[in-house]
Amino acid sequence: MIAKVIVDVPSRQTDRPFDYEVPSSMEEWIEVGSRVGVPFGSRVLQGFVTRLTDEADIDRRRLKPLSELLDPVPPLLPDLIELAKWLSEKYCCSWTTALQAMIPTALKGKAERLVGIQDDQAAVLALPPELAEWIGTSGKFVKLETLLSKYPEHARAVKAALRDGVLAERTSIRDRLAIRKVLTVFVPEDESAAREALAKLPARAAKQREVLGFMLEHGGPLPLQELIAATGSSAPSVRSLAEKGLLDLREVEQRRDPYADRAFERTEPLPLTEGQREVYARIARAIGAGEPQTMLLHGVTGSGKTEVYLQSIQYCLERGKQAIVLVPEISLTPQMVERFKGRFGDAVAVLHSRLSSGERYDEWRKIRDRQVQVAIGARSAIFAPFERIGLIIIDEEHESSYKQEESPKYHARDVAVRRAKQHGAAVVLGSATPSLETYAAASRPAPASEQSREPALLPMPDRVGGRPMPPVTVVDMREELKDGNRSMFSRLLHRSLAERLERGEQSVLLLNRRGYSTFVMCRSCGYTATCPHCDISLTYHQKSRALRCHYCGHAEQAPAACPSCQSEHIRYFGTGTQRVEEELAKLFPGIRVIRMDVDTTTEKNAHEKLLKQFGDRKADVLLGTQMVAKGLDFPYVTLVGVIAADTSLNLPDFRAAERTFQLLTQVAGRAGRHHLPGEVVVQTYAPEHYAIVTAKKHDYASFVAEELRHRGAMGYPPYCRLILVTMSHEQLPLLSTVSERFSAGLRELAEHEGVLLPLGSGFGRAMEVLGPVASPIARMKDRYRFQCVIKYRGNLDASALVRKALEPFADGPPQRQVQFSVDVDPQVIL
Ligand code: ADP
Ligand code: ZN
Ligand code: ZN
Repeated sequence: MIAKVIVDVPSRQTDRPFDYEVPSSMEEWIEVGSRVGVPFGSRVLQGFVTRLTDEADIDRRRLKPLSELLDPVPPLLPDLIELAKWLSEKYCCSWTTALQAMIPTALKGKAERLVGIQDDQAAVLALPPELAEWIGTSGKFVKLETLLSKYPEHARAVKAALRDGVLAERTSIRDRLAIRKVLTVFVPEDESAAREALAKLPARAAKQREVLGFMLEHGGPLPLQELIAATGSSAPSVRSLAEKGLLDLREVEQRRDPYADRAFERTEPLPLTEGQREVYARIARAIGAGEPQTMLLHGVTGSGKTEVYLQSIQYCLERGKQAIVLVPEISLTPQMVERFKGRFGDAVAVLHSRLSSGERYDEWRKIRDRQVQVAIGARSAIFAPFERIGLIIIDEEHESSYKQEESPKYHARDVAVRRAKQHGAAVVLGSATPSLETYAAASRPAPASEQSREPALLPMPDRVGGRPMPPVTVVDMREELKDGNRSMFSRLLHRSLAERLERGEQSVLLLNRRGYSTFVMCRSCGYTATCPHCDISLTYHQKSRALRCHYCGHAEQAPAACPSCQSEHIRYFGTGTQRVEEELAKLFPGIRVIRMDVDTTTEKNAHEKLLKQFGDRKADVLLGTQMVAKGLDFPYVTLVGVIAADTSLNLPDFRAAERTFQLLTQVAGRAGRHHLPGEVVVQTYAPEHYAIVTAKKHDYASFVAEELRHRGAMGYPPYCRLILVTMSHEQLPLLSTVSERFSAGLRELAEHEGVLLPLGSGFGRAMEVLGPVASPIARMKDRYRFQCVIKYRGNLDASALVRKALEPFADGPPQRQVQFSVDVDPQVIL
């Protein structure tokens, strides 16, 4: 038997399966998706089996055997192996990089050196006695690292023994994290001996009597530590009972359950509203059909999308299939988790980045071991190793966090559609403000061919219970200034806040942080502090009084005088939210504010704690950045204020208007979700901008119509797709030459395919290659950066062309190599 193995070396030259011989002892166990250790050059590396066959691509005599099979149950499944291949092609990364993205960190094994005694006789002569004793007799292997740290004084003897062959060496792959095991006490199956013994134990064995009595009464099993605590006994008493065979003492695998200490109240399905029922029926039909299908659930905030998700999942589970629910990382609050755990209890695994890697590993294993049927999580939960997926839900599908920013730079939405195709599953994309790409695809008339199925559009235009959308008032801040109001609060927002305080209601204040970051400026000469390694401004951190670069981590002390003109009029602008908080305290003495931004949410669970406090009405105002806009549902919030709505409009990003509209709509949706009516105040310097005008009217359709006109005129998605290729090197002339060669090569390939055409030239396939030009951030970490933007439309495999154009740049001495980074469907072009 031959195994084709993708070995964990992420270089382009080694991006293909290698052949290994499967030792007969492994034949019964090995499967596609198994994790193995393989000899590779002089090392042992981890790899995944992609195929089992009896044909080798190389001479059989040169085949090496697999050195180990790492898990009894393969961590990956054949469909995931295939999906990884697809990822590597679409997103131009190596197969192994794609595979690594699918497994928990705990399984990213690393090689470890082991040593053992080769020949007992020789060892007695050659090794210091305590060393020989510790290692043990031949056949046993110990970690070299542990040996050396235990006996540092014998380092030379060990080295000599290895050289002379007294000690043998072996490499093995070790997981980064072990499964946690706990010593647990059991009552033996046949209790009679224990019962008899209990009656006969002498009085001086009081402790043993107590332990045995306790166990017989409660039945067990019980972790040893808990038994000791409950009975006031000690480990030796328990052990001596175990030695007599009266109790069993065994190691038991323990799962770290991040929600172990929380009880979730069971909730029953709500009777659906008419709008919900219609949508639910469509989804259920798709699940029942067992054919891949994508649907866009376009429901306004408060339309009850979550209840539709829950009942659709229920339907899916009843059909014996599994469901994956993706939510933006930031919405994985207890509120959201509660809704799913409350309905499905222990059938739910939760995966998000705030869990420790041990907790995440254990949640992941619940999926792999078929103990749960629902996985809810952020982006990477799309790789949950389920075997029969019936439904994939992506809530807030427009969120940019579904795009991974490092390799593999995948978008969870596209991966979901692909995975659904493999499983015959339904995909439900839910949002109040769908991305233009999704919406445009869903509202196109049904195509003639069944092949290119577009997502179906499922609208839910009304809020549950007929609650109105909150009225939005737009305040022109230029007028405020004209009237002599220099505060960051308009008179209306000030008055509205005061009213909420009087009535004991709550407010949410959003500071649009993008483009509002903190910086340092000299008022005398206009100097701004920039990073010495990157072409961007440094950010001021008030707590540590340091200036930091967000791209390379460079940090320096904030200067007291201007480095350029020595003036003392240098100003540090603290985070926007801090300034708002200070202003609030000044205007409303005694006001209780919870501030939620990157600074206050670094600690584990900080985010959840702050929200809980706010939910318990321990504060009047929840003030924050984008974080406060998402998914919160608090009944006493009746005012939402947006400070500086348009800071994100002026960014050099073709999605700027879309992001602004989405943000305003989302945050406005936080107000008046229950019995109390809500109100929204939006402060802006650009009240006439269509993103703000349409957000005020909750008018998604008009926004989209206007935005599509702009995108069409500028040649941006959804009218085409983009690939961004960024190249970097320390030497500018070399970078310039190489990037020119790359883009010329790509144009040539496109020409050859007959697709090198202006996008506006009609229908069908077309591709433009723009650049190379200097990137918007022209230097990062002392490397210059150039970029090419590829725009294309129609049914053409642009990724394949880019991969081919990259081939000539794969080798060469490393220091001369230009680094290429490919971003397919980029979210930002920086
Ligand atoms: P969305 O996610 O669309 O913004 P939610 O799912 O949060 O909306 O629902 C808004 C509110 O309506 C929630 O408090 C939810 O409990 C309630 N709700 C949803 N569906 C129903 C229903 N069928 N009957 C009564 N209340 C409902
Ligand atoms: Zn100055
Ligand atoms: Zn920097």
